[in-house]
Amino acid sequence: MSSLVLKTRGLVSAMGSRSVHLSAACNKRTMPDPVDHATGLEKYELLAKQAGNEDPFFLKSFARGVGTKENPNIVNAMDNYRMVGCVCSEDDTSIKWMWLCEGSPKRCECGYWFKLKSHPAPDKYKLPL
Ligand SMILES: [Zn+2]
Repeated sequence: MSSLVLKTRGLVSAMGSRSVHLSAACNKRTMPDPVDHATGLEKYELLAKQAGNEDPFFLKSFARGVGTKENPNIVNAMDNYRMVGCVCSEDDTSIKWMWLCEGSPKRCECGYWFKLKSHPAPDKYKLPL
């Protein structure tokens, strides 16, 4: 047992005595641009962000507006339905989830109205390569 400890200590001390040599010539290497490596939906998203659209798939949350029946909160989607979560009160610790379908605005239990606005999804056969 004690010889094993000694051997291990000897190995560690041998490895610790090695030196590392670096040169300034290595500093010119950079990581490749992620846009060059990405394909499909990932590239679509990166190109949209480069063009200034930070949320091309409508994933970011938003604060509710007035939310009346005549002026409902618009929920963007890339299909004709979407699940929506409403934090009805600021102090709530849970989210009220509901399905929202195109053409039928819906009222949450807290009284706010939501309406789905459908956007065309990117064509998977025409995605950038
Ligand atoms: Zn609500």
